[in-house]
Amino acid sequence: MDHFNYAGGVLHAEDVPLPEIAGRIGTPVYVYSAATLTRHFNLFRQALAWTDHLVCFAVKANSNLAVLRLLGDLGAGMDVVSGGEYCRARAAGVPGERIVFSGVGKTRDEMQSVISGGIRQFNVESEAELMALSAVAAAMGAVVPITVRVNPDVDAMTHAKIATGKSENKFGIPIARAREVYALAATLPGLRVVGIDMHIGSQLTDLEPYRAAYAKLAVLARALRADGHDIARLDLGGGLGIPYRRDNAAPPLPMEYGQVVRETVGDLGCEIQIEPGRNIAGNAGVLLASVIYLKQGEGRDFLILDAAMNDLIRPAMYDAHHDIIPVRQPVVGAAVSPVDVVGPVCETGDTFARGAQLPALGQGDLVAFRSAGAYGAVMASEYNTRPLVPEVLVSGDRWALIRARPTIEEMLARDSIPAWL
Ligand code: PLP
Repeated sequence: MDHFNYAGGVLHAEDVPLPEIAGRIGTPVYVYSAATLTRHFNLFRQALAWTDHLVCFAVKANSNLAVLRLLGDLGAGMDVVSGGEYCRARAAGVPGERIVFSGVGKTRDEMQSVISGGIRQFNVESEAELMALSAVAAAMGAVVPITVRVNPDVDAMTHAKIATGKSENKFGIPIARAREVYALAATLPGLRVVGIDMHIGSQLTDLEPYRAAYAKLAVLARALRADGHDIARLDLGGGLGIPYRRDNAAPPLPMEYGQVVRETVGDLGCEIQIEPGRNIAGNAGVLLASVIYLKQGEGRDFLILDAAMNDLIRPAMYDAHHDIIPVRQPVVGAAVSPVDVVGPVCETGDTFARGAQLPALGQGDLVAFRSAGAYGAVMASEYNTRPLVPEVLVSGDRWALIRARPTIEEMLARDSIPAWL
C-alpha cells in the first residue's frame, strides 16, 4: 500500500496534488511520501517484534538526507556501502552505533574515517579486507565489531545483475570456508567478532531462497559457537521484493518474511539485523514527467517524455517495468492505445515501456512512474548534460524540495579547462 492516489480526478502524493509540485519545481522530479516510508519501515519492525532487532535501511536505495533523517528519527539503523553513504547517514543525524558498513571494496581511508566517526559493525567480505581492517584498527588503537559476510550459494531467483548469493558472485566468503576465516579473525588484533552477515540479492519475490540460505546460516552459527566465537548478532541482509506491476501477484509481505526468519534462526537467541532498502522506499516514490511530443512512427506511436534513462535507469539497466499512469485521472472506460514511452536521450535504450496501454495524452500532460522511490534518484546521472533530477518530500499537505535541480551554469562550473589548452 502507498499514499499515491487519485482525488478529485488528480493524482496526489498524500494530500498534495502532483500538478502543484510539477508547476513549482518543473519536471522531471521525484516525489516521496513520508507516510509510505514510515508505514513500510514499521512493517519490518512489526515483523521482527518477537525478538531483539535493528532494521537498518539500505542507504543505497535512496540516500537523500531528508529520507535518512525521517527513517533515522523513527529508530532505523543504516546499512552503508561507502564512506560517502556513511557521511550521509551521519549528516542525517544517525549515530555511528546504528550504522553498519557493508561492501566488497572498502578502502583503508574509508575504514579509518568510519572507525573515527563510530560504527556498529563492519561486514567483512574477504580475508584481504580482514587483514586490512585489522591493521587499520590496531594502528588506531581501536577494536572494531565485525561480522563476516558469508555466501551461501543459494539462487535468489532474481535478475542476474542483483543476485548476490551464488558462488559465482563477488560477494562474501564461501560458507564452506567460513570457519577458517572466523578462526583467522580471532587471531587478529583490532577486531571483535559479533556475528554473521548474509545478503543474497535484491527484488526477491519468493521466500524459499531466504529459507534455504538462513537454514545454512543457522548451521554455521552453531558450528562457530562450538568453535568458541561469540555469535550474538545475525545480519540477514535485505532484498524483499516489491510489486512493480499492480496486476501481478504481490511478493510476500514483511510479516511473512519475519516468520521465515523466526522459523530458521529464531531459536539461536541472536539479535536480528536486516537491511531492507527497496521494500521501504520503492513504492514510497514516483517520478513525475511531462509529455514533450507525440510522434507517429512506422506502425507504432511514441510518447516522448522529459524524463529519460539518466533520471531513471532501471528499465534500461535491468529491463525493469514501472507502471506509468496519467496524473489526470482518465474517465471510466476511456479508450487506451499502445504507445512506446521514451525519453529524449540519444540512445534506443532510453525506452521506458513498449506498447504501454495509455489513454490519449497531449503535450504538457503529466505522467507518473510508480514504484520509483528506490534505485531511482540515487542512480540518476547528468548524461547528455541533463541536470540531475530534483527530489521532493511530501508529508500530509506539506511538501518541500529536498534536492534542487542544478542550473546548467552550476553544472558547467564543475569542469575546468587547463590553462595550457
Ligand atoms: N544490503 C546489501 C549488502 C545490499 O547489497 C543490498 C542491495 O543489493 C541491500 C542490503 C538492499 O537490498 P534491497 O534494496 O533489495 O532490500
